[in-house]
Amino acid sequence: AMTGTFAESGADLRLEQITKSFPGHTAVDALDLTVPAGSFFALLGPSGCGKTTTLRLVAGLEEPTSGTITIGGEDVTDTKPYQRPVNTVFQNYALFPHMSVLDNVAFGLKRRRIPDPMTKAREALHLVELDASADKRPASLSGGMQQRVALARAIVNRPALLLLDEPLGALDLKLRHQMQLELKTIQAEVGLTFLHVTHDQEEAMTMADTVAVMNGGRIEQMGSPQDLYELPRTAFVANFLGQSNLLEGEVRGTDGPLLVVATPAGTIAVPADRAVATSGSVVVGIRPEKLKIRTSEPTPEAGRNILGPGRVVDVSFSGVSTQYLVDVPGAGRVSVFAQNSKGGPRIATGTEVWLTWGVDHGFGLEAHPA
Ligand code: ATP
Repeated sequence: AMTGTFAESGADLRLEQITKSFPGHTAVDALDLTVPAGSFFALLGPSGCGKTTTLRLVAGLEEPTSGTITIGGEDVTDTKPYQRPVNTVFQNYALFPHMSVLDNVAFGLKRRRIPDPMTKAREALHLVELDASADKRPASLSGGMQQRVALARAIVNRPALLLLDEPLGALDLKLRHQMQLELKTIQAEVGLTFLHVTHDQEEAMTMADTVAVMNGGRIEQMGSPQDLYELPRTAFVANFLGQSNLLEGEVRGTDGPLLVVATPAGTIAVPADRAVATSGSVVVGIRPEKLKIRTSEPTPEAGRNILGPGRVVDVSFSGVSTQYLVDVPGAGRVSVFAQNSKGGPRIATGTEVWLTWGVDHGFGLEAHPA
C-alpha cells in the first residue's frame, strides 16, 4: 500500500486512455498523458475543457469511467484519495483560522504521527519565506502570504505529486505574477512533480516546463511553452497562446524548403518543416509581432512575404508597442505589433500600408477550423 509513502523526490504520472463521462457529457475523452518525475507540468485550456476533472481523477476525487492512472509506476486507479501520494492546493485553500501559521503547516504531519513535525513545518515555512510569520494567525496575512501557507502545508507532506488547481486565481495581478515566479523556484528547489491546472496562458507559459493544451476533453497539443508558441499545430492552440493572424490557402507546390501557398490575398511561402500538411488546404499562421508595417510598396525579394496594400483601420498605443489593425483585401483584419522606438514612425488610421515578414516566421496549421 502507498499509505504514508511520501517521497523525497517527485514521481511520474501516467494517464492511459482515461475517460470520464457524466450523464450526457464526456468531460475527459480517452486522455493519454505522461508527466515526467520532477517536472512542472501545466494543463491549460478554456473553461469546461475538462482540466479540473482530470486533476480530480488524479487526486482520486472522481472515478474514471475507463482507463488507468499510475503514479511512480504504481496503479492507483482504484486507490482511495488519502492513500495516493498526492496533495492538492486549491484556489480556495482553507486554513484553520484559530491556529497559528506554523500549526496550520504542522497539522497534517502531527495527525499522521510523522516525527519532528515542528522542525519540518518550520523548514517548509522557510521555503516559502514566511519564517517571520510562523506565530501569526492566517487572517493577519495578505492573500499572497496565505496562499504561500497553503503551499507550505502541501509541500511539508512531500507528496510525490503536487496538484495545483488555479491556486493563484484569487490573487490580484501583481501578486499573481510574483507568486508564479516563486512557485517555479520552489518547485525547482523541492524537486517534486507539479501538475498545475490553469486557464491563464501566461501563467502556464511562465511556470511550466511542459504545457498540454486541452480542448473538449482532449489534449490538442503538448510541448515546451516555446514550442507551442512558435509552432502551434492548430488554430485553437495558435489563438489560445497569444494572437495569430490566419490566412487560408491551397498549397500550389514547393520552392526548395518552402511551400508555395495561394491565398485570396496573394501567394505566400511557408517553410515545409513548419507546416502540419504539405499539400491541399492549409492555414498559414503568423504572429503579430513578426509582421513589419511599411508605408511604401516593398520590392519583392527571396525570403520575404508581402501582403497588401491594405489600410490601417485602428491604432492603439500600449507603451512598448503599438498595435495596428490593417484591413487587407483577401486577408481580412490583420494585427501587427510594432515596437515603439523614440522618434520611430507613427502611422495614422487610414494610411495605405504593406505588411512583410520573413518566410521562416510563418507556420502551417491544420485546415479544418478548431
Ligand atoms: P473550469 O475552468 O471552468 O473549471 P474545466 O476545464 O476545469 O473548466 P471541468 O470542470 O473539468 O472543466 O468540466 C468539464 C466539463 O464536465 C464541463 O462541461 C462540466 O460542466 C462537466 N462536468 C464537470 N463535473 C461534472 C459533474 N459532476 N456532473 C456533470 N457534469 C460535470
